[in-house]
Amino acid sequence: MSNESINWDKLGFDYIKTDQRYLSHWRDGAWDEGTLTEDNQLHISEGSTALHYGQQCFEGLKAYRCKDGSVNLFRPDQNALRMARSCDRVLMPAVSTEQFIDACRQVVKANDRFIPPYGSGGALYLRPFVIGVGDNIGVRTAPEFIFSVFAIPVGAYFKGGMKPHNFLISGYDRAAPSGTGAAKVGGNYAASLMPGAEAKKQGFADCIYLDPQTHSKIEEVGSANFFGITANNEFVTPKSPSVLPGITRLSLLELAQSRLGLTVVEGEVHIDQLDRFVEAGACGTAAVITPIGGIQYKGKMHVFHSEQEVGPVTKRLYAELTGIQTGDIEGPEGWVVKVD
Ligand SMILES: *Cc1c(COP(=O)(O)O)cnc(C)c1O
Repeated sequence: MSNESINWDKLGFDYIKTDQRYLSHWRDGAWDEGTLTEDNQLHISEGSTALHYGQQCFEGLKAYRCKDGSVNLFRPDQNALRMARSCDRVLMPAVSTEQFIDACRQVVKANDRFIPPYGSGGALYLRPFVIGVGDNIGVRTAPEFIFSVFAIPVGAYFKGGMKPHNFLISGYDRAAPSGTGAAKVGGNYAASLMPGAEAKKQGFADCIYLDPQTHSKIEEVGSANFFGITANNEFVTPKSPSVLPGITRLSLLELAQSRLGLTVVEGEVHIDQLDRFVEAGACGTAAVITPIGGIQYKGKMHVFHSEQEVGPVTKRLYAELTGIQTGDIEGPEGWVVKVD
């Protein structure tokens, strides 16, 4: 595939085989140095714990082309730390922050021709993951592991501008109260496939999960975190041990306070108190900031700012976040890591 064959404006979020991916093996107590390979197929034991017992975790981050042609990674150290925590939770050996960032850099450099141009709204999406492999059948941790990072070019999340989306409150849970909700593991996603598909079949962008203990408080979207803006300028996002600690969420908490002068609150978002919010959104690496037009709960639609228009605070947060990612706005110390 040559560069000319990619229509940057038509890119969605689909698998495309890029040139090189990074592969490292853990055997005899250590990760090896890792190599780049053209081969996009993994050859693993049929007894791999990743296949039977869900022993795996993953990450998602983007590389952005800047105006001057250079390439930015956005807070990759945070992804490395989160992946180490996910590995701990499912009994896999962690990858060091140095190896994680080095792998990301290598993959970005080797797939430079797939990085969407500055101004296209697209980015190179990186998918690091760790899986338990090797011959095994008992319910225990794997004898060997694979750490890999591959990359795909993805398009602007919103074609033709940011628009509000409607969401459905799910009756299902994606994670248990003291389960693996805070770890980025595939099992949480397996649990979310059916509720997500049902919501989409009914015309919603996705579903929103309530807290698994009481089903009375908003947790998150299942691949993105929830935030709301109150009439007295508070940025509110749910705090719960079963919510995935998003790096976009973490960044917006900081930007809302330091750049927009909002009061930030990590707390409870009761489903019967949505009236306190004048705007709401879902945030994540893939979703960036998706404005929430309305939320349907028990057959009733609650509309925030508008089902057609994006609220002013959401717009400002979006501009600040994406401006920092593409290097147009100076970010807080250490947020942007250049791929030289
Ligand atoms: C990855 C993920 C998010 C968003 O995290 P970011 O670091 O902002 O991309 C939110 N919820 C879940 C369940 C996730 O897996």
